[in-house]
Amino acid sequence: MATATQAVQLTDSVSRYIAKSRQMLINGKWVDAASGKTFPTYNPATGEVLANVAEGDKEDINRAVAAARAAFDTGPWSRITPSERGKLIWKLADLIENHAEEFAQLESLDNGKPVTIARIADIPGTIDMFRYMAGWATKLEGNTIPISAHGAKFLAYTLREPVGVVGQIIPWNFPLMMASWKLGPALATGCCVILKPAEQTPLSALLLGELIQEAGIPDGVVNIVPGYGETAGAALAAHPNVDKIAFTGSTEVGKLIVHAATGNLKKVSLELGGKSPNVVFQDADIDATIPGAAMAIFFNHGQCCCAGSRLYVEAKEFDKVVDGVSQLASKIRVGPGMEPTTDMGPLVSEEQMNKVCSYLESGYAEGAKATVGGSRQGDKGYFVKPTVLVNTNEKMKVVREEIFGPVVTAIPFKDVDDLVVKANATEYGLAAGVWTRDIGKAHRIASQLRAGTVWINCYNVFDPAMPFGGYKQSGWGREMGHEVLNLYTEVKSVCTPIS
Ligand code: ADP
Repeated sequence: MATATQAVQLTDSVSRYIAKSRQMLINGKWVDAASGKTFPTYNPATGEVLANVAEGDKEDINRAVAAARAAFDTGPWSRITPSERGKLIWKLADLIENHAEEFAQLESLDNGKPVTIARIADIPGTIDMFRYMAGWATKLEGNTIPISAHGAKFLAYTLREPVGVVGQIIPWNFPLMMASWKLGPALATGCCVILKPAEQTPLSALLLGELIQEAGIPDGVVNIVPGYGETAGAALAAHPNVDKIAFTGSTEVGKLIVHAATGNLKKVSLELGGKSPNVVFQDADIDATIPGAAMAIFFNHGQCCCAGSRLYVEAKEFDKVVDGVSQLASKIRVGPGMEPTTDMGPLVSEEQMNKVCSYLESGYAEGAKATVGGSRQGDKGYFVKPTVLVNTNEKMKVVREEIFGPVVTAIPFKDVDDLVVKANATEYGLAAGVWTRDIGKAHRIASQLRAGTVWINCYNVFDPAMPFGGYKQSGWGREMGHEVLNLYTEVKSVCTPIS
């Protein structure tokens, strides 16, 4: 454990923020839950309570949907110009930048991730996303359409209009950044929102709510209702006055969301689980590939839907790559996220730690062996050692199912055909990595892999301009880039005779 150095000093505002109970944001007011209930959010490095948060339920979702509905149907948001919308989103990005250190500390305390990583990944990624989406507010154009019907002259054109009131349910792995992936396009397209953060990590979304108010985004446009998935989340997904639900989380819950949405056939977009193959050919630059393959799985403690969790290595280089990744894993300093020397923090919760450890046990029971790590670390906090499993095959649970922790399975392959079959033998299709110096082969394989993102000689490269989402059971729709605008807009055809 990284204990030799002083923990990062909490800013005064973060100390104040976590000492108080947190309310929820409905119609521009900070309010308690209708039930008066609160729930605790924990520091996963210690297991101690960080703050008590208002526990939203069906009644609070009803209040928030009514506020969003009014803001959308008749409120100022329906009359605001695209340019003003863009300016408000940009201003929000500036405010987040001013509060970057507070956000980094809150993410580290609530989620467990190293504050050093939150500073360079989560917070800048969030700011970039809002700035990118601010630009789209003024660029939502339709088309003019040549019409042949009836032999007469028509003027026909399309309008791109906001889909309406959107429920957004987000996970705990990148709490603030996931809020930005959802709120950015919703605000750019003119939608109104009810955001439900994950119960494990509600704090950064609540601070974001304060900045949304400070930026001048009108009351009711963004409502933030923390609470549990089975109650607040389920009520939002089923709500008859919600036009769309956007969800990021597990495939299992994604299916529940789809069922819940059928009542009013609301639009649904889903960013779900993954079991992404990371493929190393013997002609790759192996020295660059080894750290790349380690980062592909160990970044964010493996709690990434796109984690490169199935490492396939061409047989000739298998031992070298596995040794290299294992050595790097053994050097990762696991400790509290607020220690400046920590490379990897705890998993987000006791439940998540137990789930990852039970996967390890199932792997051992089926014959897998750990070359490094392989168990919990310590007995306080929710730490799991970075782990490489060998002697694995596609029949094993650890190879088939998403572990969502710092565990990679390594498997050798014979040739390209063998590899493509193995890599695609999964119900998921979120991402993949290919490492080779042969550029033709790289692009051939990229086209054969059934995945929404293929990284060639890199991994975990994200940009607000690059679409992200899944094939197969990894989801519906693409977030980021201009593709996401389709998820938040309706296309209206307008047609009139002009002769
Ligand atoms: P994980 O298993 O990684 O915690 P989940 O898919 O359970 O991921 O959670 C992602 C988000 O979905 C969280 O905000 C959670 O509260 C929410 N959620 C969980 N269950 C439901 C449900 N039945 N309906 C709606 N939202 C849910």
